[in-house]
Amino acid sequence: MHKVDEKIIASEINKSNNILLVGHILPDGDDVSSLVSMSLGLEKLGKRTLAVIDDDIGEYLLEFPLVKKKIKKLDSEIEQNICNEFDLMIVLDSSSPDRIGRLENYLNFFHVIVIDHHITNTNFGNVNWVDPTVGATAQMVYRLLNFMSVDYDEQLATMNLLGIATDTGFFKYENTGPETFRVAASLIEKGASISYISNKIHGNTPLEHIYLYKDVISNLKLASQGLIAYSLITLDMLSKYNILPKDSPSLVENLRSIRGVEVAMIFQEFEKNLYHVSLRSKEWADVSKIALDFGGGGHPRAAGFSIKAEDILVEIQKIVEHITNFLKS
Ligand code: 5GP
Ligand code: MN
Ligand code: MN
Repeated sequence: MHKVDEKIIASEINKSNNILLVGHILPDGDDVSSLVSMSLGLEKLGKRTLAVIDDDIGEYLLEFPLVKKKIKKLDSEIEQNICNEFDLMIVLDSSSPDRIGRLENYLNFFHVIVIDHHITNTNFGNVNWVDPTVGATAQMVYRLLNFMSVDYDEQLATMNLLGIATDTGFFKYENTGPETFRVAASLIEKGASISYISNKIHGNTPLEHIYLYKDVISNLKLASQGLIAYSLITLDMLSKYNILPKDSPSLVENLRSIRGVEVAMIFQEFEKNLYHVSLRSKEWADVSKIALDFGGGGHPRAAGFSIKAEDILVEIQKIVEHITNFLKS
């Protein structure tokens, strides 16, 4: 069979007129960027699109152009109509069906295209374009829209660059390659502003997040001779500063920055007794494998999973032990 690439995806898209675009829960910059870019790009080609996520979008992403307008939160009205109104579903930046929340229930009703860059992708679509060599799904979106001769304006270029910037840690993680810079350069030529994106992401931290960071540092623990750093954010800690769980800052990279640390981890309670675990590694530990052991997924240097825990401290001990053994093996 021919390897799936942007040409095959373009010919699939050309067969449809009403396209449902789906992103993942706990949406991040790449997710939002990919959805908005696909929506804008396909509409420029005369398609009707609806971008939908079964979750709330963090405040820092809602400030980007068109995010509020273009991405809808799944609700009963949308659920009632989607099967009649759309003839194709494109799932973006999502490695497995559970990542799209309740939209998983609609996979069987559609011809499904998956566009993703997670090495752990389960290929759950009818057509799966999965390329773990690229830094961001938004980079694949660029390849596709460029191949389809979409005429980029400044807004589309900026929104497309957003996901490439955030998923590569602004062009410094291991997943940053020559192609990342080529695509970014091309988007900047088309009018994208990297300083605008950077200021919105890094120059817009609410003061409460800095205070929360202080408490996260108070909870900081090291294990495995300093190879593992981890901390905890509970709902109580968030409510102390009136921060909604969806707006909780990602502080895991700050823990990874500690000298000697290879694996950093934040346990974040997002509903009572439900925790999202963010994993990052620096140089050699494949945290996607650790996440898979706990039912999650991700990339070698950034992965995650969710757990239910009555007593989170007990669970943390077990997980830290598991990782300690993993790092030894
Ligand atoms: P984060 O720690 O920023 O939430 O996620 C880091 C990476 O791991 C992202 O690429 C994300 O897609 C992936 N990831 C996070 N949580 C999960 C999860 O529960 N399941 C899967 N399959 N991937 C996850
Ligand atoms: Mn993502
Ligand atoms: Mn991504």
